[in-house]
Amino acid sequence: MTAHELRYVKTGTVPGREDLLFQGGDANNVRQGPVYLFYVKTERDVVLVDASFHMDDARIMGAEEGVTRKMPDEDPLYALKQVGINPEDVTKLILTHAHFDHVGYVDAFPNATVFVHRRELAWVSGLPAWSIGYGSFSVEKLNRVWKRLSVIDGERAQILPGIEVVYAGGHSAGSMAVLVDTRIGRVCLCGDNCFLYKTIEEGIPIGLTNDLYESLEFMQKLPLIGDVFIPGHDPLFYERYPNGIVA
Ligand SMILES: [Zn+2]
Repeated sequence: MTAHELRYVKTGTVPGREDLLFQGGDANNVRQGPVYLFYVKTERDVVLVDASFHMDDARIMGAEEGVTRKMPDEDPLYALKQVGINPEDVTKLILTHAHFDHVGYVDAFPNATVFVHRRELAWVSGLPAWSIGYGSFSVEKLNRVWKRLSVIDGERAQILPGIEVVYAGGHSAGSMAVLVDTRIGRVCLCGDNCFLYKTIEEGIPIGLTNDLYESLEFMQKLPLIGDVFIPGHDPLFYERYPNGIVA
């Protein structure tokens, strides 16, 4: 089995209302969710999972209250530079989905093939103005990388040996999880179908979902697809995996 080193950089925080983070959450409580950017370096490739958020986009979304980025150390390009990754080094960028806190820097990596699920792309292409989590900038950024898009169809696809994507839906039209084979087993980066460890460990589904059935199906599938599970935006993640290293 290929054993990749899976690492991450911190790229700021976004606010999340508790009732959106999990079913039964208090709508009056807002929690700060970290936005981490995962990466894998191989001999030939640098693979990123998601592209964090841009402060300008957060402002457009009206999410600037609570959005933090301790400049410059949490600026994605600066943070990646600190671990030896320049924008042109990135060869593959996997989008779990196209919400604003995942596509922010999608157009900042000139040599990257960008992987997105067909259903997410179709949704974004005809983006309804009322659609939560996206902005017109999501469409503009994806247009800028149009020629470098690799569209994922169906349930599962390999990106590299030891790195796969799995369709989840639920949270967004074409949400995907990412599986990375490491020395601690197959790590599942759950994306936002599991915002918090609460969803993974207590089985409480997220609140912000297009399709609760799909979100539940994805949760049931977890033990079959991975060994170690990482939620989309949980501060506990930093306690469990300090120092930028998952495995
Ligand atoms: Zn998110």
